[in-house]
Amino acid sequence: MNDMKPLAHRRPNSALLERLKSVVGPKGWLDQPGDLAPHLADWRRRFQGKTPLLLKPATTAEVAEIVRLCAAAQAAIVPQGGHTGLAGGGTPHDTGDEILLSTARLNRVRALDAANYTITVEAGCILKQVQDAAAAADRLFPLSLAAEGTCQIGGNLSTNAGGIAVLRYGNARDLVLGLEVVLPDGRVWDGLRALRKDNSGYDLKQLFIGAEGTLGIITAAVLRLFPAPKERVTAFAALRDLDAAVDLQARCRAASGDSLVSFELLPRAGIDLALRHIPGVADPLQAKRDYYVLIELTAAAEGSDLRARLETALAAALEDGLLADATIAESAEQARKLWFVREGITELQKYAGVSIKHDISVPVARVPAFIPRAIELCAKMFPGTRPIAFGHVGDGNVHFNVYQPEAMDGGAFLAQGEALSAAIHDLAMELNGSFSAEHGIGRLRLQEMRRYKSDVELDLMRRIKQALDPLDLMNPGKVV
Ligand SMILES: Cc1cc2nc3c(=O)[nH]c(=O)nc-3n(C[C@H](O)[C@H](O)[C@H](O)COP(=O)(O)OP(=O)(O)OC[C@H]3O[C@@H](n4cnc5c(N)ncnc54)[C@H](O)[C@@H]3O)c2cc1C
Repeated sequence: MNDMKPLAHRRPNSALLERLKSVVGPKGWLDQPGDLAPHLADWRRRFQGKTPLLLKPATTAEVAEIVRLCAAAQAAIVPQGGHTGLAGGGTPHDTGDEILLSTARLNRVRALDAANYTITVEAGCILKQVQDAAAAADRLFPLSLAAEGTCQIGGNLSTNAGGIAVLRYGNARDLVLGLEVVLPDGRVWDGLRALRKDNSGYDLKQLFIGAEGTLGIITAAVLRLFPAPKERVTAFAALRDLDAAVDLQARCRAASGDSLVSFELLPRAGIDLALRHIPGVADPLQAKRDYYVLIELTAAAEGSDLRARLETALAAALEDGLLADATIAESAEQARKLWFVREGITELQKYAGVSIKHDISVPVARVPAFIPRAIELCAKMFPGTRPIAFGHVGDGNVHFNVYQPEAMDGGAFLAQGEALSAAIHDLAMELNGSFSAEHGIGRLRLQEMRRYKSDVELDLMRRIKQALDPLDLMNPGKVV
C-alpha cells in the first residue's frame, strides 16, 4: 500500500549507523535481512517495510541518546513494541531510511506499590508480564486482549488499547497515572507520577497515549492496579435479537452492582465457521439464534452473591423474551471453553479466507441499527460476501469482518473492497460513531482521517505534531 505524503527526513549515513550501534553495544542492534524480517511486515501482512538498522536500547538513557543523534542527523525513527498492532503503525515504510527502535529490552518492572495500587513498568514489558506481576501481589492489572502474550505496554499505551475489560476498567488511557517519554529532540520528560490527583497544569501524558509513536517514545509508565478478583461468573446467552443485547447488558450492569467486566457479541455465522475450522470449539447452547453474548462478571471479595444475581437477571430476561436460552459456567474449565468460542471467532481470520476488516464503534444503543444495515450494504454492494459482526459490544465496539465470497479470488476481493469499507465507515459515522474504535490509525486509516475528521480537528492534531516534532522525525507518515 502506498502512502501519499512525501517523507521529509534524511537517509542515515554509515557514520550515523555506526554511532547508533555503539550507543547500544553489540547485543543491542540487528542489521541482517534474516534478523530484520520479522520486524518488517505487520501482523496482518498488509505492509512490508525496510530499515538499515534495528536498535534495541536497554535503558531510557540509551533511547534518549539514539533520539538525540537521529534528531541531529534528521533521521526518522519508528518505535516498535510487540508489533501486534493492526494498523501498520509499527512497520517502517519501504524507503529503507527509517531507523527501527524496538523496546524489547526495556523490560523491567521498576516498582510495585501494593498500598498505592500502582505498578511502574518499562515500555517493553509484555502485557502478560505486567498482569502476572500484579497477580503475584494480589492485585489486578485489567488490560486484557488476545495479543497479551506478545504486545508490550508501550505499544498498548501508544495505541490506547481496549480489549475485553473496557466496560469495567476503561481503555489503556484510563489505566495510566504517569509516563516517562523521550521527546523527539532527545530530552526525557519524567512524568512518572503515581498520583490520582494532580491538577498542576495540562495533563501532558494524554498527548502521548494513543499517539502511535508520532510524538515521542514512551519508555516507562505508572499503571493503576485494582483488587484481584476473587470470584468470576461466566455465562453464555442466545439472544432474541440485537435489541436484546443492549437491554441485557444494561440489566446485567444494574443487577450486579456494576460488576460486569465483559459483554462480547458472537454471531451464529461466526460460531458455525469456528465449529468448522477450529478444533476444540463446542457449541455452548442448543438454541439456534442469530446472535449470542458471552458475559463475565467478577467480584473482588469472596462470598459475593454475584452468581445468584446473574441467575436472577438471566431468568428474568428469559421470561421477558429477551433470551432463547442461557448457561452459566459451573467451573473454570467450562468458562475457559466459553471463552474459547469467542477466541475462535478472532482465530477464524486464518482459516475462512480473505476478509475486509472494520473496527467501528457507535453508542451502544445504536449497535442494533448498525449491524443489519452494514450486512445489507454487503449484500447489495458485494453479493456472496460473508459478514461476521462480533466483539466488544458492551462498549459499542463492533469488529465487522467481511469474508470473501467462497468462489472468488482473495486478491480480487480485496482490490474491490475500498468502496465497501467507505460505505461501512460512512454508516458508523452517520450513527455518531468512530471508524477506528480501538486499533488506531497507523498507515491503514489515513484516508479515513481525511474523510471524516473536521478541518478544526485535523488542524489541532497537526499543530500538536508540529509543536513537539517540528522535523517530523517520529514515526513519520502515520496518524496525521
Ligand atoms: C490477535 C490480536 C488481538 C488483538 N486484540 C485487540 C483488542 O482486543 N483490543 C485492542 O485495542 N487491540 C487489539 N489488538 C491490537 C494490538 O494488540 C494492540 O494495538 C496493542 O496495543 C499493540 O501493542 P504492541 O506492543 O504490539 O505495539 P506495536 O504494534 O509494536 O506498535 C503499535 C504502535 O505504537 C507505537 N509504539 C509502540 N511502542 C511504543 C513506545 N514505547 N512509544 C511510542 N510508540 C510506540 C508503534 O510505532 C505503533 O505505531 C490485537 C492484535 C492481535 C494481533
